[in-house]
Amino acid sequence: MKRRNILKGLSLVPLTAAGIGSSLPFSSAFAAPPPPPTKRDLFKELGVTPVINAGVTMTFLSGSLMMPEVLEAINSTAHDFANMYELQDKVGAKIAEMLQVEAAMVTSGAACAMLLGTAAAITGTDQEKIKLIPNLPGPRPEVIMQKTHRYLFDQAVSTTGAKIVEVEGPEEMEKAFNANTVMALFFNAAEKSSVTHEEFLAIAKKHKIPTFLDAAADVPPVENLFKFQKLGFDMITFSGGKMIRGPQSAGLLFGRKDLIEAAKLNHSPHEAPIGRPMKVNKEEMFGMYAALKSYLERDHKKEWNEWLDRCKRIQAQLETIASVKGETVVDKGPANAFPSLHVTWDQTKVKTTPKDVLEALKSGTPSIVANGKDDMLSIGVVLLKPEQVNIVARRVKEILQQAV
Ligand SMILES: *Cc1c(COP(=O)(O)O)cnc(C)c1O
Repeated sequence: MKRRNILKGLSLVPLTAAGIGSSLPFSSAFAAPPPPPTKRDLFKELGVTPVINAGVTMTFLSGSLMMPEVLEAINSTAHDFANMYELQDKVGAKIAEMLQVEAAMVTSGAACAMLLGTAAAITGTDQEKIKLIPNLPGPRPEVIMQKTHRYLFDQAVSTTGAKIVEVEGPEEMEKAFNANTVMALFFNAAEKSSVTHEEFLAIAKKHKIPTFLDAAADVPPVENLFKFQKLGFDMITFSGGKMIRGPQSAGLLFGRKDLIEAAKLNHSPHEAPIGRPMKVNKEEMFGMYAALKSYLERDHKKEWNEWLDRCKRIQAQLETIASVKGETVVDKGPANAFPSLHVTWDQTKVKTTPKDVLEALKSGTPSIVANGKDDMLSIGVVLLKPEQVNIVARRVKEILQQAV
């Protein structure tokens, strides 16, 4: 065969096959079936165990699951570049409008918002100070906090170089202000307060010192996203990756325009300020906006009823075991103020402890994380996917039944 004919012959083979395949009804008997679409499973690929969260939003358990709208926002914006100054400004303006405040920005979580807010209160728009913080010359800036409000997260405040000054009661607070005071921080979910929100604001305002409210985990209710700016707090933070169901590494800082502008100057995309290691990427800015929009537009009453219904369904399954009792309990908040199912039993009849049940749930397949105390198992329902409600009920029932 001449070379020319070989080439011709080769090109003819696939053509012919394609011709047969597309025109003859019995073609499927000859053609190889298309391979089933293989979905890449990165959990499997890396040997990471997927977990069912029958608890509350927990940082170590990756916060919450992003809403489909958020994933859509992330995916649909990933294919083009954006000027990050413009994006932060425009997303911020939209969020500010939605929350009825002067200004807002997306931070890398509430802890970052605390750091940036404190930095803003220290530096304002002073470029020299922005460059030097946390190593400013002179006495350390001071942030006033109630003694009973001290908590793990206030390290985000002292990271700026600020010193925390503890006070108890309005009188002590009043006396704590001096030339070094830059901010007063209120931890909204503190167990106890010796100074009320209103007193706190009145005293700080008298001294013209900015106030910061940490309400990171304090939705629901949705009204909390509007309440504290109306009360008069200058800066407020909420986590993006808790019940708002945005990206876990995103958060909101909002309030007074001059302070938010100063906070932006202390953040990426500026090259070197204190907030630079806490960058938020483009997709998460879009994602945070989408999450907040979706959260505000949600039918909260319907969602609440769905949570109550989930508790009831799990309760009904578990109470088929003698002595097991379920009770729907709404946490008094302000953090995690939503329903969970508290389960108790007579440990002489069902011979296991909540601690052992939790261990069995965690090490089982699928792995389930719930909470509890010595005499009570707490099953969270708000982070379950619809199909997981029965899975959790079945697993808990199975474990309790084995102990009868
Ligand atoms: C979760 C939480 C934070 C930290 O929030 P991130 O968004 O994870 O940075 C700060 N303060 C309180 C009260 C919290 O609950």
